Amino acid sequence: MSAVVQSIDANKAEAQQELTDGFHLVIEALKLNGIKTIYGVPGIPITDFGRMAQAEGIRVISFRHEQNAGYAASIAGFLTKQPGICLTVSAPGFLNGLTALAHATTNCFPMILISGSSEREIVDLQQGDYEEMDQLAIAKPLCKAAFRVLHAADIGIGLARAIRAAVSGRPGGVYLDLPAKLFGQIMDAEAGKKSLVKVIDAAPAQIPAPDAVKRALDVLKNAKRPLIILGKGAAYAQADDAIRALVENSGIPFLPMSMAKGILPDTHPQCAGAARSTVLKDSDVVMLIGARLNWLLSHGKGKTWGDAPKKFIQIDIEPREMDSNVEIVAPVVGDIGSCVAALLAGIDGKWPAPPSEWTGAVKAKRDDNVAKMAPRLMNNNSPMDYHGALGVLRTIIKERPDAILVNEGANTLDLARGIIDMYQPRKRIDVGTWGIMGIGMGYSIAAAIETGKPVLAVEGDSAFGFSGMEVETICRYKLPVCIVVFNNDGIYRGTDVNAVSSDPAPTVFVKGSRYDKMIEAFGGVGVNATSPDELRRAVNAAMDSGKPTLINAVLDPAAGSESGRIGNLNPQSKLKKK
Ligand code: ADP
Ligand code: MG
Repeated sequence: MSAVVQSIDANKAEAQQELTDGFHLVIEALKLNGIKTIYGVPGIPITDFGRMAQAEGIRVISFRHEQNAGYAASIAGFLTKQPGICLTVSAPGFLNGLTALAHATTNCFPMILISGSSEREIVDLQQGDYEEMDQLAIAKPLCKAAFRVLHAADIGIGLARAIRAAVSGRPGGVYLDLPAKLFGQIMDAEAGKKSLVKVIDAAPAQIPAPDAVKRALDVLKNAKRPLIILGKGAAYAQADDAIRALVENSGIPFLPMSMAKGILPDTHPQCAGAARSTVLKDSDVVMLIGARLNWLLSHGKGKTWGDAPKKFIQIDIEPREMDSNVEIVAPVVGDIGSCVAALLAGIDGKWPAPPSEWTGAVKAKRDDNVAKMAPRLMNNNSPMDYHGALGVLRTIIKERPDAILVNEGANTLDLARGIIDMYQPRKRIDVGTWGIMGIGMGYSIAAAIETGKPVLAVEGDSAFGFSGMEVETICRYKLPVCIVVFNNDGIYRGTDVNAVSSDPAPTVFVKGSRYDKMIEAFGGVGVNATSPDELRRAVNAAMDSGKPTLINAVLDPAAGSESGRIGNLNPQSKLKKK
């Protein structure tokens, strides 16, 4: 062969060589791992990435603020057991998303925050790049794991590591740093394809040790006043049938934590939700299933738990959770599905029924509390109080048990949690472990997208303000979200007065605000509801039509108490008391 012919062949081969780039490799890697949706805000350097991902069939939901996109991704992780993906620009966008990443980690939700970043060489020499920030270093202490990919050939491995870190063991938030230059890197398409990794068995079952199961059963069998506490880890695990079997076969009363409501219906005969103080105080053996003994359970000690000695059994995937607050006499470490199955197998249908004095006492307390509450829920006062408004929403969820309830606020949160019964697992999503405000619209959007079910967001007026601009996003994507703003003119109450100047008191908002007008600006349905009857009609119409709707529920500004049910956490001012 002549030299001329050889060189022509080489040119041909080069011309035929197919190339790919960082953009496409990230998209292919996501698709290969079953990621269908990205939540984010476009901008440099990821604007094109969003366009290309959309063109390649990934659903790209574009928000107005990264924090809301991040909260959406975090709850997508909770609802699906797959990492929710949040995509942001560098520095400020990254920081906005970081709150949600930390939230995901605290709540044990799998999520991956993918942020574009500026050029390493310039960032590391601190030479003042566009949006310069050492994002990886900042993310690290706030999440479960953090990775950076510098070479296109490592994108596959990088994403695989991120997915595994997010969903295996105790789920949590993962940061993935993708510098701008990576997206434009070119490599051979075939080699690129081969470099991608499909993660096999991303969250492997973790089987509990037989000894641990036996120890737990021995403690449980000898209990006189046993209690099961279900936490959001139990909801996350999607082991609904096994958990139901354990509760029903054992006959033990159960107490659902907020986001565990509905694993078994709140109206279940064994549900002790309405007898919470009694069961916490008087129980002698408490089995925690995917619930931590943190502040939400008064750390397992003190007044809330009474004087009677208590034995704790804990089922959790995280071994270090054991003894975090009090001694755990029977730690069962493993995934909830496997642990509950092992307990069921170990007892083999031969549960000693808990003493009827105990189950009877719990039931009596519960029925008593439910009966006391009932008349308050039926009032038709105008302006509304919390009970009148929530009585309506309670009936609506009873009639539409597959709707997703999003809930945040102070009084709006505490009272709705107690009043609105849930009937199905993973239908109540709320402020979670930190009790944060701001999850409302992000959660609503992700819930609608991930489940295809109608969403009812019950929002305090203050809480709503943190993510209110996303009503535009809800209208843009035409999502079946009905937002009810409990408008009492302020934080906790709308009645505070500033005695010294014309400035309003720090806790009050514009009186008589019309939040319903906000959604009308974007083509949604706005309703001003001044009575429970009006509220009922408006919510039902919204849920029937599936149209984005915002209902301004006019509450008495004097309704509500300082900090809702957690006023005890306010530092007491000695000066004020004098
Ligand atoms: P809650 O606020 O409802 O009490 P927490 O968030 O405090 O719930 O507790 C959830 C617990 O569930 C965490 O300790 C977490 O490690 C655990 N967890 C999450 N997923 C699983 C799972 N699949 N199997 C076992 N434990 C899990
Ligand atoms: Mg308010």
